[in-house]
Order: sequence, then C-alpha cells, then structure tokens
Amino acid sequence: LMFIARSLFHLFIDISLLKSLQGALVWVAMLVVDAVTLWASYNTSKRFILAIFIIQKTGWIISSTLMFGWESGFQYFIILLMIVYSFGEAGYTKKKLFFDFFCFTLIVVFLEVLKGEGGRISIENADKSIQVFNALAFVAMVAIVSISFSKESQQMEDKLITYNNQLKEQASVDALTGLYNRRSTMEFINRLINEKRVFSICIGDIDFFKKVNDTYGHDFGDTVLVAISEVMRNQVLSYGLVSRWGGEEFLIIFVDQNGDEAYVNLSHVRDTVKAIKLNHIKDEVTVTMTYGLTEYDTSKSFEENIKDADEKLYMGKQNGRDKIVY
Ligand code: GH3
Ligand code: MG
Ligand code: MG
Repeated sequence: LMFIARSLFHLFIDISLLKSLQGALVWVAMLVVDAVTLWASYNTSKRFILAIFIIQKTGWIISSTLMFGWESGFQYFIILLMIVYSFGEAGYTKKKLFFDFFCFTLIVVFLEVLKGEGGRISIENADKSIQVFNALAFVAMVAIVSISFSKESQQMEDKLITYNNQLKEQASVDALTGLYNRRSTMEFINRLINEKRVFSICIGDIDFFKKVNDTYGHDFGDTVLVAISEVMRNQVLSYGLVSRWGGEEFLIIFVDQNGDEAYVNLSHVRDTVKAIKLNHIKDEVTVTMTYGLTEYDTSKSFEENIKDADEKLYMGKQNGRDKIVY
C-alpha cells in the first residue's frame, strides 16, 4: 500500500518536471526505480526492501531538496524515514546511528541549499503546488505508516496475551496427569473461602505404590497414576475438583458438600478406583487407595485443615489401608 501510494505521489509530483527534457528524464528514471522497488517488494525479504526504500528515498529527498529548495518541503520526508526505520527490527544502537545520519543529512542539505540560494530550480519557477502536495503527502504517509505499524504491534500484543494464557494454563496443571497442581488448588480453595461456601477436602494416597514401581517399573507406575487421575477427574467433574497434591497423593475438593455428603461421593470414587484393571504383560494390576476426609473448617488455617485430612489418612494406613477415614 505504501509503495503504491508513493508511486502515485511520484507520478503526480513528477508531472511538473515534464516541462523540461531533463525533468522528463528524471521522471522516467524515478518511475523505473519505483516500479523495480514495487516488484522487488513482493519477492524479497522485508529487511532488504527496507534498506532499498531508505536508500532510494534518501537520494530522492536530498536531490529534490537541492533542486527545489528548502521551501518545497521535501526534506521533511526524512522524518517519515525515521518513523519507518524506528519500527524496524534493528537494535537500539543501529537506530541511533541511523537517526544521527538522518539529522546529519538534513544539516548538510540545508547548508548546501543556503549556498545555492534556494535551490537550482527555485520554488517560484516550479509549480507552487509542490509545497501543498508535499505537505498533504507527508501527512498521508505518516498516517499509513502509523496505522499499518500499530496494527502489527497490536497483532503482536494479541499473540503475547494468548501465549501468556497458555503459560498460565501450563503452570496450573500437572504435566503427567493433566490434573490441577498444588498452586491452582490453593487458589481454588481460597476462592471457596472468600465466597463463604461449605466444602470438604480429602487426601487420597495409593496403597503400596512403591511395590507397583518396584515390580512393574516406574513407567508402568506412571501409567497407573494417569489411569487413576482420569477416573477420579471424571467422577469428581460434576461437583468438585481433583488435583495432584504430591507424587502419588491426590486432593479432592467436594464443593457445597458437608462431610457426610462428601463421604457418599468419596465412596463412589473409592469403588471406581478399585475397579481399575491395568494389564502388564500377563499380570492384571489393581490398586487401592486410602483416604482422609474432613469437612473444611474456615475458622482454622489451611495448613490445619490439611493436617487434619493427613492425620486421618495416616490412621487409615495404620488400620489396614483401602479405607476412608472421616
Ligand atoms: P503406602 O501404602 O504406605 O502409601 O505405601 P507406598 O509405597 O505407596 O508409600 P510411599 O509414600 O512410601 O511411596 C510412594 C512411592 O510413590 C514412592 C515413589 O517412588 C512413588 N512415586 C511418587 N511419584 C511418582 C511418580 O510420579 N511416578 C511413579 N511411577 N512413582 C511415583
Ligand atoms: Mg505417599
Ligand atoms: Mg502410597
């Protein structure tokens, strides 16, 4: 769009040059350069095009200012180049160097114009409308550049937001089982406390899991963990949340359920976990779990509530495992 706009602009400005043979040649030359640049913009890298653009424009600005004088306003297109370049991918040092170069160019051109007393073709002799066109074209091009570049940075920002959300999601979920991790579970519990909801919590621990690992290998142990997680998540989905609290420990939250209600649902969870059958070569492997269940007491700290559930779990382990202690 930029190139098309610029080429049209050239065509318009350059018509004033057609009055002389020399002017006509310059016009044809600029048209060719523009056409080549436009063609190249579809076939080359953005970086290369930016370089060509800047070189070509710098030449054009210098020669036009020298030719038409300071009043023509051609020199202000250097500001446009600075804007275009500042949005590029170059580093800070490179940009600073380029800005210095542009400022230096402006000063040199100005001094040169002063020497030549208003340029070789004085603005009086050329079409006065060049001034007006330059002003309008400058504003239009700054607008095009600003809009297209701000669109780009907006898209970049959208991408970053999406990426950030993905990271957040990953940070709140356990990689092996896909269950919520400790951090997000605590956030969830804090929300329930803030909303003054009644809820129960339970810590479940796989019985003799070390033996599963030792007998069938660690990888198979992981398979068991994944299978249990899947089953628990499906069971709890409609009323609460299950998270991987530790290695082979799970924490279940029974939302809007007092201890008694949670006990009923937990019994279903226990039965479903027991029913899992996994095959390892010729063996059929089943596991049981022990659970410590407690109704959450908001007058106590989070740690105290967890400790209560943990102590019940320990009692269950002491008394033969495969149990719910409430
Ligand atoms: P208990 O009935 O007393 O709970 O016996 P246990 O063997 O399950 O208890 P313990 O806590 O001593 O052992 C837990 C084992 O769980 C030890 C560890 O190797 C295993 N484990 C923890 N995290 C993982 C895991 O991510 N994958 C696998 N495969 N094993 C794990
Ligand atoms: Mg354990
Ligand atoms: Mg265990």
